[in-house]
Amino acid sequence: MLSYRHAFHAGNHADVLKHMTLIALARHLNQKDKPWWYIDTHAGAGFYALDSGYATKLAEYEGGVGRLWDRTDAPPLVADYLSLVRHANPNGKLTRYPGSPWFIEQLLREQDRMRLFELHTTEVELLGRNFHHLGNRSIVTLGDGLAGLKACLPPPPRRALTLIDPSFENKRDYAAVVAALKDALGRFANGTYAVWYPQLSRLEARELPERLEKLPAKTWLHATLAVGRPGHDKGMYGSGMFIINPPWTLQNDLSSALPWLAKALSQDEGAGFTLEAQSA
Ligand code: SAM
Repeated sequence: MLSYRHAFHAGNHADVLKHMTLIALARHLNQKDKPWWYIDTHAGAGFYALDSGYATKLAEYEGGVGRLWDRTDAPPLVADYLSLVRHANPNGKLTRYPGSPWFIEQLLREQDRMRLFELHTTEVELLGRNFHHLGNRSIVTLGDGLAGLKACLPPPPRRALTLIDPSFENKRDYAAVVAALKDALGRFANGTYAVWYPQLSRLEARELPERLEKLPAKTWLHATLAVGRPGHDKGMYGSGMFIINPPWTLQNDLSSALPWLAKALSQDEGAGFTLEAQSA
């Protein structure tokens, strides 16, 4: 039984980091005409209302995209992200927040394809409806995304961006992500893989980055964005994006975006960021 619904969290600080990074990765792939695939192993519903339903319960977006909505001084990567969120809200009020497949859809060209996986039956139905208009350019599958990833690799165009974005409610998710990436790198070593993870006091969350660094990947980039200090409870105080085979431009883009975001989204003096890379 899956209890996680992304609508509760849509637009929070973790979504800001994740979606901003995703946009940078897709823009880089678009620099060449050659087609690419976007694989989203945990796609969610694809689009969320902020003014009704689950999102109003915790209103997490208020501490995330809500704090950035009116800003006009954002660095280029954040400005790019904000312009897409504004595009999703054509009436000028922040009432809707897009999910990862929607951001990619905005950048998807005729020759590119999306493969979206989602295990929650209600979410997958919404996902199917949200991307139905793309026809066979977007295939939505009900099922386990890490198993689905295996079947997608290597992708026919030999270029792909994969987002692995579990809810990590179950501590087994951490080991499953590491195992799936090991397998994926064996099947398709040159793909770009982006893993989102929460910063929590839980041991598995703290150990994940080190386990990802040990994977047989030549290059990686690891960005974290904390909005507060680690609490004694189980709350998420920040999150990380670990990118395998990142484009060389990403480090530079993130190095101007992260300090600005850490300040803009800060909840207390624990707010901050890290940016580390391994190059070939
Ligand atoms: N990627 C989405 C975005 O950025 O808009 C958010 C995804 S949310 C963090 C995680 C999603 O994974 C939830 O919708 C949940 O139902 C789904 N999920 C949980 N276990 C899964 C699995 N084994 N395979 C695919 N989806 C799963």
